[in-house]
Amino acid sequence: MYITPDFKEKFQVYPLSIHELSDRIVCMAKGKSEDVIFVFGPDSDFCGTEKSYEGTEYKECPLTRENAEALKKLFPFTRPVPVLKTHKTLGLGDRLGRATAGHIKLMKDYPYIRPVFAQQSMRELNLTGRRYEDVIADVVFAVFRENYTLGYGADGDHLKTEEDIRYALDCGCTMITLDCSDHINNDAASYDDATVNQKYQADAELESRYIGKTFTLKNGMSFTFPENEFRRIVLIYKEAIDFAVQIYNDIFRGNQNADLEISIDETLTPTTPLQHFFVANELKNAGALPVTMAPRFCGEFQKGIDYIGDIHQFEKEFEVHANIAKEFGYKISVHSGSDKFATFSIVGKYTDGIYHVKTAGTNWLEAMRVVAQEDPALYREVHKFALSVLPEARKYYHISADEKTIPDVDTLSDRELPDLMSRDNSRQVIHITYGLILQAKNPDGTSRFRDRLYQVWHDYEETYHKNLYNHIRRHITELGN
Ligand code: ZN
Repeated sequence: MYITPDFKEKFQVYPLSIHELSDRIVCMAKGKSEDVIFVFGPDSDFCGTEKSYEGTEYKECPLTRENAEALKKLFPFTRPVPVLKTHKTLGLGDRLGRATAGHIKLMKDYPYIRPVFAQQSMRELNLTGRRYEDVIADVVFAVFRENYTLGYGADGDHLKTEEDIRYALDCGCTMITLDCSDHINNDAASYDDATVNQKYQADAELESRYIGKTFTLKNGMSFTFPENEFRRIVLIYKEAIDFAVQIYNDIFRGNQNADLEISIDETLTPTTPLQHFFVANELKNAGALPVTMAPRFCGEFQKGIDYIGDIHQFEKEFEVHANIAKEFGYKISVHSGSDKFATFSIVGKYTDGIYHVKTAGTNWLEAMRVVAQEDPALYREVHKFALSVLPEARKYYHISADEKTIPDVDTLSDRELPDLMSRDNSRQVIHITYGLILQAKNPDGTSRFRDRLYQVWHDYEETYHKNLYNHIRRHITELGN
């Protein structure tokens, strides 16, 4: 059995997608508005339409969840696996389900970096109208199509409840980022001493572990807990630690199928090194250390733009955070890592190249750059819509962008439009409105932009993948690779 050159050319079969088993061939081809799967030979696992071309019988199968399951069953390399324990890992959340094939081309050039191709939070799922089944299915198709056999992870990102975690794991996620922010008492960070003392409930056992003690790391760095500071830290973090320990015990103890990341980054104030040490030490005492931890660093990690803040202070504090992580044996995870070029050499240096860095939104911005390049009229329409719904989007995402400084798109030439995706203010506006853009409807209920955007991304996929390759590679090289 084999596929004729004539067939390959006529149907635009992806060369790397041709996979032969003893009794059948499965491959993928570029359909009109979406890729399709072709199966030659026994096809009981796939749903599709029987077809024939010049005497060859085959089945044409759409990209459905069921057909992703069929691929996973026949080709184990397409299933997500736990990867977080590898030294270098990179989260590459693909909100559109169209970026992964581009990411794969890049990751093949860095085989020692393990990718987490699927990475979505509940917020992202709600804003894009997808479910974890869809997110993972899209990655399965891309991994099969590009024959990426090195193994990738799937992150149920920023999950806050046991129910959501179990749902993500059932869908095949191999990593969970536990978001403890609902259990962190932000207010306590700014209590005066009297309020701290009033709210604090004595805990003799806990106090005996910290008050008057000095903790020295292997590298000589030491931590002491002044009594009042200790009480404040307990007020801020104790409940979050208890929550993390409970989730660890219920779901992750002895679990070989998924890695746990603990995130304390979605808070109003940065995690001080002393606070980080306390959280780590308490997790260790409970035997509940995660594989990665995401503190909130000083300065601002806003969406889609470079670091804002005092980079020297960041470097000083990051060194301590990295040393704490090394001491306890987990990796530092950097969230909102898209475009944080000022920080990457610091991250690479002080972690000794052992890190997890998450990017997501920048992949969407590169997709919108393709629209600006290839369909200026559609870009202008989307851009104006984004500005009109900005107040709504600001409820979900904090950005400092001043939209008044963005030039009127009607006064820009077509050639000037892509440059908007290189300017901070327009980047942020397009960045945070992705959900509203993708879900916008016409009065008759049809999609206002989504279908047209997806058609552009399908037609100009190579442009998109080239943009992604260059942009994400810059992240990788500045991390020291
Ligand atoms: Zn985060």
